[in-house]
Amino acid sequence: MNFSDTNQDLESATIMTSSQLVSANKVLLIEDNLGDARLVEIFLLESDLANCEVINKTSLSDGLEVLRSGAEFAAILLDLTLPDSRGFETLETVVAQFPQNNIIVLTGFSDKDMGVQAVKLGAQDYLVKGEFDAGELTKTLRFSIERNKVLKRLEETQRIANIGSWEYYGVSDSFTASDELYRIFGCLGGEKECGDFTPLNTLKPLQEAAVGNGQLKKDLKIRRKDGSFRYVFVQCTAHKDELGHLIAQGIIQDITERKLAEQEMVKSRERYQEIFTQSKDALFICSLDGKFIDFNQATLDLFGYDRQGLLMIEDAHTLYQPVERKNEFILKLKNQKSVKDFEINLVNRQGETRECTLTANIIVTDDLVGYNCILRDVTEKRQAEKLRKARDLARQSAKMKEQFVASISHEMRTPMNAILGMSNILLQMDIEGEPLNLVKSIKQSSEILLGVVNDILEVSEIQNGKVVFENSSFDLYEVLNNLVNVMQYKAQEKDLYLEVIMDEGIPRYISGDQLRLNQILYNLVGNAIKFTDEGYVKIYLKKLHDIGDSLQIKFEVEDTGIGIPEDKIEAIFETFTRIRQKDRVFEGTGLGLSICKNLVELQGGKIGARSGQGRGSVFYFDLIFEKAEAKAKPDAPFEDVPELPTDAVFSLLLVEDHKMNQLVARKTLERKWGNIQLTIAENGQIAVDLLKEKDFDIVLMDIQMPVMDGYEATKYIREKFPPEKASMKILAMTAHAHVSKDEKFKEYGMDDFVLKPFKPEELFYKIAKYVKRHNS
Ligand code: ADP
Repeated sequence: MNFSDTNQDLESATIMTSSQLVSANKVLLIEDNLGDARLVEIFLLESDLANCEVINKTSLSDGLEVLRSGAEFAAILLDLTLPDSRGFETLETVVAQFPQNNIIVLTGFSDKDMGVQAVKLGAQDYLVKGEFDAGELTKTLRFSIERNKVLKRLEETQRIANIGSWEYYGVSDSFTASDELYRIFGCLGGEKECGDFTPLNTLKPLQEAAVGNGQLKKDLKIRRKDGSFRYVFVQCTAHKDELGHLIAQGIIQDITERKLAEQEMVKSRERYQEIFTQSKDALFICSLDGKFIDFNQATLDLFGYDRQGLLMIEDAHTLYQPVERKNEFILKLKNQKSVKDFEINLVNRQGETRECTLTANIIVTDDLVGYNCILRDVTEKRQAEKLRKARDLARQSAKMKEQFVASISHEMRTPMNAILGMSNILLQMDIEGEPLNLVKSIKQSSEILLGVVNDILEVSEIQNGKVVFENSSFDLYEVLNNLVNVMQYKAQEKDLYLEVIMDEGIPRYISGDQLRLNQILYNLVGNAIKFTDEGYVKIYLKKLHDIGDSLQIKFEVEDTGIGIPEDKIEAIFETFTRIRQKDRVFEGTGLGLSICKNLVELQGGKIGARSGQGRGSVFYFDLIFEKAEAKAKPDAPFEDVPELPTDAVFSLLLVEDHKMNQLVARKTLERKWGNIQLTIAENGQIAVDLLKEKDFDIVLMDIQMPVMDGYEATKYIREKFPPEKASMKILAMTAHAHVSKDEKFKEYGMDDFVLKPFKPEELFYKIAKYVKRHNS
């Protein structure tokens, strides 16, 4: 080995100062001849390696012990002839156990040849005792030092690059590897930490595989000493010598971090791919001149093309509308590089216009100037929004209509109260002939008008779901009797025959909503009489189902009237539907049947009609009632209450703000009871003040009034007055029909109510009832 040339190169390569070089070095001298050992020390002292420390051991075993302790040496000066080992065996022992060390063999003058041989066996150099001088010793030691440094640097480089290296000689099954290789396999302290674990087991199959090609490069996953895995890249060259022994070298690089990053990238790419394909929004990349580059399924769905078709589109931008909007979009994109939630319409392949929002970002790469785009179809959302708005508007207007109807009906009832009241007063006067007929007509017309107002209010309540049904027992026979009694009068006017025909076994007492049943029957029978000029009107009651406690009854009202064209039958149950008659005008609003239909259906029944033009009609409905026991009738109107004599003396406080109504009430009452002491209060406040001063037998209290309304006044009287006064009789007077239905007046502490416009008899009856009770 010619090391002197390389020595020059190494010297020029080092950048460390010489003092640094020497201070760090130790030399192990294994030499039993103390004279020779002393000479080495003297030579070193003379040289510029003066600071080099010499550790002298006089036997091989002592030398090996020092090496095993882990001490590092720049070189080992090894005498081959030692007390415990002689010749090459000495060298081989050291090389085998410490292959990385620089061994400089010391030979005798007589066996110079041994030196050459020693170098072949793995020594770095040899020195001939008695021949070498300080210069030669220094030179070879310097080489060792430099070699160590190079090896250290190599080791460092390997460590930084995570690259380990190894060599394998099959002939001696010898495996040498760099520290980094051991580290990669998880033996951080190098080979000595391996124990039973040998990296060679992993590498052997790779070496075998490399033999065929001469070399092998491979990424693989290896198991480390602690059982964990690392990803490595292995590059290995291998061949067999002429005797068939394998010789292999290789490097192994830990690429775990890179591999994991790669895997992470693949995963995240897959995730993004998944989002891309699964997205409900159209995601695509498009060139600035409108060519599709990449797109997902949703894009195909939205544009309405297949893959091929979409790629063939010359300029996708022509599909956007309106044109000004499209131009604005492209301009914005070019100027601002991005566009967010831009509203635009898209006309798809089927010619449908889809409302979309568009978000786009410019992309500029070597081979593309374009943009990525998210196009969201919001057509349905927008439609839903429009519907919601329309619905809100409808609700709002329904509410307004409800309020309007309620207040209008109230406003109409009040003056009607006056008209009806005054007609009644006139009728009580001694008039006859023409004036009597005129007053009768006024009264009749007012009653019709009142009926219309009530119907409108009723429809409004039904439409707003405000109807509540009663369930109490009543006398069905009595209902029918009353019906016939009232209707008989109208029927007789037209010479119609009116009759009730009832199945056997229909019980007399049933439980349900009597008022509603009445309302339906009056409507149907009233219509039947109205639309019939001759013949009869028959009312049938048929037992449909008898289910234990309950009973289903079918009511039919048959007439021989003008009938209804078949194609109109369904329509007459709608609100405001009336059938035009060429030559005749019938009174009515077209609300009655619609109210009946609602009242029947809300109680779970069915209503319908069979008819034909000129063939008469049959209207029918069914309802379920519970069977009930006869009960004593409480509060039966106009019964059990003896008249309050016309000359009775009693005091009455009328609380009413409306002048006309004051007049009607006053006239009506004074005509009935000549001695009545009647006081009028304009509102609740005045009434309360009056009551503080004076006692009254009864109070008639309007509800809606300025300053203090009837509810407030009643509450005040009930709560703030001394007991006898607080319990005084108070009758509510209201034009609000629901006050009576909801029994709201009771909530406010009133004793009873009179609905305006009042029927004189009802007013007289209620006053008599309470004044009498009060007096007794
Ligand atoms: P109104 O009687 O107030 O007009 P309805 O809702 O009670 O309103 O009736 C609606 C329409 O149905 C009537 O205008 C009439 O044309 C038709 N109709 C109702 N009952 C009969 C009947 N018994 N015979 C013929 N036509 C009828």
